[in-house]
Amino acid sequence: MNTEFNPIRYDIIRKKNPREILMLRGSGCKWRRCTFCDYHLDSSRDTHANYTLNHKELEKVTGLFHRLEVINSGSFNELDEDTIREIREACIKKDIHHLHFEMHWMHRKAITMLRQYFQEQNIQVHVKMGVETFDTHFRDDVLKKGMEHVSPEKIALYADEICLLFGLTGQTEESMRRDVETGLKLFERVCINIMVKNTTRVLPDGQVIELFSRMLYPDYIDNPRVDILMTNTEFGVGEDQRTSPI
Ligand code: SF4
Repeated sequence: MNTEFNPIRYDIIRKKNPREILMLRGSGCKWRRCTFCDYHLDSSRDTHANYTLNHKELEKVTGLFHRLEVINSGSFNELDEDTIREIREACIKKDIHHLHFEMHWMHRKAITMLRQYFQEQNIQVHVKMGVETFDTHFRDDVLKKGMEHVSPEKIALYADEICLLFGLTGQTEESMRRDVETGLKLFERVCINIMVKNTTRVLPDGQVIELFSRMLYPDYIDNPRVDILMTNTEFGVGEDQRTSPI
């Protein structure tokens, strides 16, 4: 656990698919091998400390839009059991009927049980999966995403929404457009993340980002089913409060 890291954990997304969003803390991503990711700062093996922190954040949820997204550095089932139970209680108490959360492909078999657990209380689960691209060679051999070269159709058997990662060397207008269109054809929503510099050796490619901004951004920015995050804190959570202007 990075004890210095003190991110903003609650915010409200008002524009597309209005919802409250919470960034909670779990035991950390079990996959951890994606070459572009250093998203491991915000995790702890201390289940009790995680629960205490998550409980405090869950108290901020108001049910304003009857829809909640929960993210954590990894997959939803890496949150402790008490936190998951409390998320369900918060949904019941605040009249929330839609819950969005992230799962890695390796945990796909846990999805049915989680859907049932929330559906018992009339809460519909929307599973978001980070696929980054549907180019299976690039995704699984280069980015090491661990998705076993599966087809988009197979992913759609488990996930309702997907995340794509753009701004990487080798991506073209055509490849990025193909990814977005496949996503829109098979999934409810598409979230496009633009690569930002982090501590890994994978660097954002300025030319690819410029291409995306010029050729794709104008076509999708007004699409209510597409979120575009030019920076990874654009949903309002995740920014370190020590550096936040707020
Ligand atoms: S599965 Fe997600 S959190 Fe885990 S290493 Fe890959 S991108 Fe990072």
